[in-house]
Amino acid sequence: MNAIALALRDAAAALSPVTQTPRLDAELLMAHALGIPREALLLGRHDGAVPPGFATLLARRLRHEPIAYITGTRAFWTIDLAVGPGVLVPRADSETLIEAAVEHFAGTSGPRTILDLGTGSGALLLAALDQWPEATGIGIDASDTAIKVARGNVRRLGMTGRARILSGGWTGTGGAHDLILCNPPYVATGDTLPPEVRDFEPASALFAGADGLDDYRRIAPLIGGQIAPGGIAAIEIGHAQAVAVTALLRAEGLPARVRRDLAGHDRCIIVYPVRL
Ligand code: GLN
Repeated sequence: MNAIALALRDAAAALSPVTQTPRLDAELLMAHALGIPREALLLGRHDGAVPPGFATLLARRLRHEPIAYITGTRAFWTIDLAVGPGVLVPRADSETLIEAAVEHFAGTSGPRTILDLGTGSGALLLAALDQWPEATGIGIDASDTAIKVARGNVRRLGMTGRARILSGGWTGTGGAHDLILCNPPYVATGDTLPPEVRDFEPASALFAGADGLDDYRRIAPLIGGQIAPGGIAAIEIGHAQAVAVTALLRAEGLPARVRRDLAGHDRCIIVYPVRL
């Protein structure tokens, strides 16, 4: 076994109490230390020395820092996003919102205008813009860090002509949009979270009051008027919140449907414009 293969084996063993994907984590850190994609690490022959930075990266992961913050990047849907402390790490669960939109707009020319409320790194907005190359969109976030990160992602993905990132809360734009995406904070204040999340990710993107519903209470009255005819809003929820969030929306006269993620958990509420 060469030095890199040995280091990968030892790192995976050390990481097994910390993560459910020790080998993957070790490979991602090694690829990052070598400055190559993980695929190249897996396919290539690397019989050189272990890069000097690897030990530091491994030590950070052993302290539960999310891989995405260590490598500074995370894949989401069809794009790679830059991420860092201060923005939520995009999660595969959130791709459920994009899947819901793809299904809704199937057989049409797709949404022309997209709004992402609480855009964070820009993950949902930019994934949707990558999905529908004719569309333009706006991402809104209350965090200055998120705005910087999202604008960086807009530039890196070559979407400056199609995406605007603005500072703001849940008010939206006041206009109507074919597709509204929203992954608000929805964790109840007292809930226990894994150390990766609790100790590293921004509390403002996670916590939403005693029952985790505070932000939905503010979003529900504002969203209906901003969905264009034929459009939808796709809103992320915690797996036990479908009934409560659906009720908040129905109280505003908005038809809503639940969609599950790949694990079979309720994950997304699809909201339709009020039928006049
Ligand atoms: N799904 C995230 C978690 O449980 C929460 C994200 C959010 O609050 N929007 O870590």
